Amino acid sequence: MHMDRTLLEKLKIGEVGFHKIDNKPDTSAAIELRRAAVSELTGTKFSHITNYSFDVEKVTKRNIENMIGAVAVTLGVAGPLLIKGEYAKGDFYIPLATTEGALVASAHRGCSVITACEGANVRIFDDKMTRAPVFRVKDVIGAQRLVEWVKENFMRMKEKAEGTTHFGKLLSIEPFVAGRNVYLRFAYDTKDAMGMNMVTIATDAAVDMILEENKAELVALSGNMCTDKKPAAINAITGRGKTVSADVVLTNEIIQEKLKTTPEKMADVNYRKNLVGSARAGSLGFNAHAANIVAAIFIACGQDPAHVVEASNAMTLMELTDDGLYCSVTLPSLALGTVGGGTVIGAQHECLSMLGVAGGGDPPGANSKKFAEIVAAAVLAGEISLIGALAARHLAKAHAELGR
Ligand code: NAP
Repeated sequence: MHMDRTLLEKLKIGEVGFHKIDNKPDTSAAIELRRAAVSELTGTKFSHITNYSFDVEKVTKRNIENMIGAVAVTLGVAGPLLIKGEYAKGDFYIPLATTEGALVASAHRGCSVITACEGANVRIFDDKMTRAPVFRVKDVIGAQRLVEWVKENFMRMKEKAEGTTHFGKLLSIEPFVAGRNVYLRFAYDTKDAMGMNMVTIATDAAVDMILEENKAELVALSGNMCTDKKPAAINAITGRGKTVSADVVLTNEIIQEKLKTTPEKMADVNYRKNLVGSARAGSLGFNAHAANIVAAIFIACGQDPAHVVEASNAMTLMELTDDGLYCSVTLPSLALGTVGGGTVIGAQHECLSMLGVAGGGDPPGANSKKFAEIVAAAVLAGEISLIGALAARHLAKAHAELGR
C-alpha cells in the first residue's frame, strides 16, 4: 500500500499526534504509518509485531489506542485437571500464556496429581466488584452526616446506579472516614463482567445524587479504597472480585509416585515457607506462586493482567491427614470476567472457549463463576507442584533443564 510520506514526516516530528490519524485513510493504514514512524525514529526493523489475526476495527475501538501491532506470547496447555466445583465440573485443559520455561510443565504436573487424587473441590464465597470515590466535607460532623445520608438513601442510589447497566446490581456501600475525607466503597454484582468499567460508570451516576443533596465535594471517583491494582489488605480481608477456595486430599502413594517426596516434607515446606516466611516478610500473599498461574491464564484469556496484583494475595495451606496431605488455596480477590475487556479478541476468546466459558453465562454470572473456579483449581495445581519440587529439591534442576 502506498504510504503518505508527508504525513509520516509530520508524525515523526510531532506536528501530528499518533492519536490523530486513526481514520487516515483507514485503521490499517494508520497502524502502518505509526509503525513506520516508530521504526524510523528508533531504528527498529519490525518483522514480528506485524503478525496478528484479529479485527483491527474492533480492537482499536475498545482495546487499544495508538496501535502499531501485536506481541505474540507463547501459549501452552496443562491438564486434564479434574474439577468438582458448583459451576466447573469435569476435566479441563488450562491455557497458559507465558514465556517462563518450566511453568507449564509444573502446572501440568500439579493437574495430574490433583486428577489422580479424585479432583479439586472448589467453592465461591463472595462475588463483588468495588469502586470507592473519596469526598471532602467540612469536618468530622459533616463526615458523620454524609455517612448517615448514604445509609438512609441506599435504595435511591441503587436505583440510580443500576440505571446505567442491564446487568450490574449494587450490593452495598461501605463507608470509611479519615478526618474530613469520606470514602464510600460501592460493591456490585457484575455478573459475567469483571466489571471495572461497569462499576465506574454506575458509581459516577450515584455520585451525582450525593453531590446534589449533600455538602460534599468529590475529590476523585477512585479514592484508592477500591483498591484497584495495588496490594491492599482490604482486598485480602474483605474480598474483591471473586473470593474462591479450592482443596484436595493427596494420597501418600501419588505424592511418592508423581512428586517424589513425602506429605511430611511438603507440609513442612508449606508451613515454613508459605506461612512463616511470608509472615516474616510482611507479605499479603501466603502462597508459593499463585501469581504465576493467574498471570498466564489472564494473558491467555483476555483478562486485565494488572489484576494479578489482587490475585497474588492467595493463601496456601497443607496439613497432614491420616492417609495423605490436605491442600487448599484461597484467593480472596480474584477479578475476572468472560465478557467485555479483552475477552472478545480472537485468540483470547478461543482460550475462554477451551474452558467452556466464552461470553455471557446462562443465567448471567454463571460463566464468570465457572471461570473463577477453574482458575482457583489451576492455582492449587501450581502450588502443589512447586511445593512438591521444593520438598524434593527439584526446583533448580527443573529450571536448569526447562527454563534456560
Ligand atoms: P466492559 O467491556 O466495559 O463492559 C462489559 C459490559 O458487557 C457490561 O457492562 C454489560 O453491559 C455487558 N454485558 C453483556 N453481557 C453481560 C453479562 N452476561 N454479564 C455482565 N455484563 C454483560 O467490561 P467491564 O468488565 O465493565 O470492564 C473491564 C474493562 O475495564 C477491562 O478492559 C479493564 O482493563 C478495564 N478497567 C477499567 C477501569 C476503570 O477504572 N474504568 C479500571 C480497571 C480496568 P451493560 O452494563 O451496558 O449492561
